[in-house]
Amino acid sequence: MIVIRGLLKRYGDIVALGGIDAEFRDGEVTAVLGENGAGKTTMLKICANVIPFDSGSVEIDGISVREDSIDARKITGYLPEMPYLYERLTGREFLQFVASVRGVEKSDERIERLAGTLGIREFLDYEIGTYSKGMKQKISTIAAIIHSPRNLLLDEPVYGLDPLTSRTLQDFIRKRSGTTVIATHSTDLVEKIANRVYIMKRGNIVFHGETRELMDEYGSV
Ligand code: ATP
Repeated sequence: MIVIRGLLKRYGDIVALGGIDAEFRDGEVTAVLGENGAGKTTMLKICANVIPFDSGSVEIDGISVREDSIDARKITGYLPEMPYLYERLTGREFLQFVASVRGVEKSDERIERLAGTLGIREFLDYEIGTYSKGMKQKISTIAAIIHSPRNLLLDEPVYGLDPLTSRTLQDFIRKRSGTTVIATHSTDLVEKIANRVYIMKRGNIVFHGETRELMDEYGSV
């Protein structure tokens, strides 16, 4: 579970998050929607402890990301919007590196299994620099889930994926326990897998509720 209280983030004069409150619940998939620049990526980056914030608090399963950043990171997985990958490493080398940093046991088997599920196994021993955008997205997704985090933050997770892999990932997300938060522009994805929706506008939350409520009232997200 992720609890955000009064979260304020400025980039110079720009207020990216204007003191927002949000709760992403256990056992639920929450989608965060909003126009370009609304603050979705900024919120996920703060939850993943990638960037600092000005005031407020973020707790992941009761652990403060500010005061206990290492423990918070251990129970969190993050798929960035623009993943940074080491292009000169092979997919396998990169994932082995991430697995060792994350302290994953039996990492070779886990990499093989996840790569098989996401359809990238046969390319694991090629350099990442030779991968297509979708292949890089698959490697980044595996890196985000390799340590089986209870809390998963995904920024545009199906963007660039082929339809089959997109469906596999959606099935994986749907079956997960723990907390999943997805920032996306895909209303189709939201309708398919999200229990709850937050809509952001200019650094604020302008709606939150169950996906079902939106569907019942408006016919679609
Ligand atoms: P998109 O849908 O386009 O990905 P978003 O909802 O994820 O947008 P953010 O990337 O969080 O939005 O940006 C929120 C605001 O913060 C925007 O006004 C953006 O210009 C600003 N911003 C984001 N990153 C930086 C940065 N590194 N430096 C300065 N301003 C930034």
